[in-house]
Amino acid sequence: MAKRIFSGAQPTGNFHLGNYLGALRNWVELQHEYESLFCIVNLHAITLPQDPKILAQKTRDLARIYLAAGIDPKVSLVFIQSDVPEHAELAWVLNCVTRISELERMTQFKEKAARQRDSVGAGLLNYPTLMASDILLYQTELVPIGHDQKQHLELTRDLAIRFNRDYGETFRVPEPFIPKAGARIKSLAEPLKKMSKSDENAAGSIFLLDDADTVSRKFKRAVTDSGTEIRFDESRPAITNLLTIYQVLTGKQPEEVEANFAGKGYAQLKSELAETTIEFLRPLQERAGGYTDEALERTLDEGRERAQTIARATLEEVKSRMGLVGARARGAS
Ligand code: ATP
Ligand code: MG
Repeated sequence: MAKRIFSGAQPTGNFHLGNYLGALRNWVELQHEYESLFCIVNLHAITLPQDPKILAQKTRDLARIYLAAGIDPKVSLVFIQSDVPEHAELAWVLNCVTRISELERMTQFKEKAARQRDSVGAGLLNYPTLMASDILLYQTELVPIGHDQKQHLELTRDLAIRFNRDYGETFRVPEPFIPKAGARIKSLAEPLKKMSKSDENAAGSIFLLDDADTVSRKFKRAVTDSGTEIRFDESRPAITNLLTIYQVLTGKQPEEVEANFAGKGYAQLKSELAETTIEFLRPLQERAGGYTDEALERTLDEGRERAQTIARATLEEVKSRMGLVGARARGAS
């Protein structure tokens, strides 16, 4: 049987070209090789304050983006995390086998907490336990992750091993799956930083749902390096980033890309890049817009049902192992 994978993205901020090229595009490929679950992790999103209306809207947008990018709901499970309450229930159980010191050690927690100073929510600390529950609920074998999630997956494995040792074999211990290096796309405004959903400066990112004018404007304003030559060069991160985007979108070799721009100026590079990006996004945006609310609802309902069937079985096993089911019946006899 095909191995099972679980992937998720948070419906926060705007899904950008980096997210697509670095993650979603790989998922579309992986779904044909693995039994795949693709989740929209809105319970993770609320570990930081969110506007409820915007969160709901972004959740549906992200589901549309998954589908428009080629995640096929006939092949894969697509669902919203909060639709399957077993995630939160298992997270509680796992919180009881997780040590505070393990959570406090997480680099992502330390970074995010440092930005918030005195308003750090307990959810932010417990984020990795929820992620562990996402993965373990489905007896996942492989978890496609970027470098930033390696520590969280390590904790997930530790929790699975600990639970199995203390309560009996219950969880499959998942392995990290680091897909062949996808391109790391940088911010158009600050090319030393990666393109990020949480970046407050929208000018740095091309969003998947940006219209043509916005894409053109963002590329036009993208920072460049000194000099005039257009070639890949680590010491010139802005131009290298623009060329990387062009390369990935066109599927050309680096030499072909450089040959294409030989003798041309930055303005030409930016306008060709804008055109390429607009053409690339167009079919995706058309498909995203083509899903009616009803069609989306149906797909997500079906995803929820199928996911919940698997999740329930695991949670029942967990509860029985921990003495949380059957306690009354046995006590009465
Ligand atoms: P945030 O700023 O909230 O962390 P993000 O843009 O980093 O948002 P994530 O939700 O953390 O997005 O990541 C979703 C997926 O996109 C991950 O697999 C991550 O590795 C990938 N990804 C994120 N940013 C980039 C980027 N700039 N280039 C390539 N891949 C990226
Ligand atoms: Mg990130």
